[in-house]
Amino acid sequence: MSMTRNSSGRRGRAAGSSDHVIASLESEIEALRSKVRSLSTQNTTLLKELEYYRNEIKKLMAPPLIEAVVLEVIDEDRVVVKSSTGPNLIVNVSSRVDVRSLRPGTIVALNNRGSTIMEVLPGRYDPLVKAMEVEERPNVTFKDVGGLREQIREVYEAIVLPLKKPELFRELGIEPPKGVLLHGPPGTGKTLLARAVARESDAVFIRVVASELVNKFIGEGARLVREIFRYARDHAPAIIFIDEIDAIASRRVDMGTSGDREVQRTMLQLLAEMDGFDPLDNVKVIAATNRLDLLDPAILRPGRFDRIIEVPLPDFQGRLEILRIHTRRSRLASDVDLARIAKLTDGMSGAEIKAVVTEAGFYAIREGRREIAMRDFLRAVEKVRRRLAGRGRQGHGGVVSTI
Ligand code: ATP
Repeated sequence: MSMTRNSSGRRGRAAGSSDHVIASLESEIEALRSKVRSLSTQNTTLLKELEYYRNEIKKLMAPPLIEAVVLEVIDEDRVVVKSSTGPNLIVNVSSRVDVRSLRPGTIVALNNRGSTIMEVLPGRYDPLVKAMEVEERPNVTFKDVGGLREQIREVYEAIVLPLKKPELFRELGIEPPKGVLLHGPPGTGKTLLARAVARESDAVFIRVVASELVNKFIGEGARLVREIFRYARDHAPAIIFIDEIDAIASRRVDMGTSGDREVQRTMLQLLAEMDGFDPLDNVKVIAATNRLDLLDPAILRPGRFDRIIEVPLPDFQGRLEILRIHTRRSRLASDVDLARIAKLTDGMSGAEIKAVVTEAGFYAIREGRREIAMRDFLRAVEKVRRRLAGRGRQGHGGVVSTI
């Protein structure tokens, strides 16, 4: 009996302890499982980090790519590019790049040997568009332009009206000019007038100096012209003002040197751009020159610069208006007689009359006065005249020679 009790007691104890072992093993397993889970999370994080550092090392070790612009696609495998390091190159196209996406002007990355197009860079304006100055909303109106009433009327009809009311022209079936050419001596207000036109037509004003296109950006002129027009179309309504157009549109290009050919290419691109847009498009071109006599007649053909507007030195009335404009915010003594100053400034341009007003102001400041007196103006007129005489300009009546 006692034996039976003993053995069942042992069995009971054995069963109790094995339950205990199982429970403790289960909790150990659970602890290990949770450890595995946390290690596997850690593992994923570390793998990600490893991948990140591998990529970073790859980037740091990778040779730099070369930026280039496509000039011409010859065939499936060969493309002419202009590399940012200078020369024009004929390069291959990597199989990763779709050759159909390449056009003249597309910006691409070449491998570091400069032999293959590796990728197409996202479209953006050629950085060389810095050749132009852009004013979103010029702060000049027709009221700031003195003495050019007739010229204002002409540019108003030719540029402002078609930009603001194209339907008028559509209804009447008339084609407005695509561009106007302003010509006249330096400092007579051609740029000022063009900026006022942009303001009055709520258009972006884009100024380019033609001589810079061919001198400062050698070999880039034609491409820049294309970029500038593209920029203008993207930001239309826009006025492109080309100053010193004679630098690219002069008839005396004899094609003797590569420089001449470059000038010729730039002008042909300009003509192609102008021929390519519609007269009722909202991009207009205003060009300016001091040397109308030099211009190639090709640019004056209808459909290009079909209005030629002379901006001469101001007459008496013009000078008086310019004086009024530039003294609008000045405090003048009661003896100041603007009509007399207008007579004395005969032969001066608007820019020179403005210089007279500024000089007069300086005389007053130097003598500690708070207003400009007539004698300040008289001295200023003399000073500006002396400066002009030094540059080969006559005392009265305009230019005697252009050096
Ligand atoms: P350039 O041929 O040298 O480029 P421009 O004819 O374009 O000269 P502007 O640059 O317009 O001349 O003139 C220079 C400055 O002279 C103007 O910013 C303006 O302050 C003054 N000015 C010239 N003409 C006039 C004018 N008719 N009315 C008022 N200000 C004028």
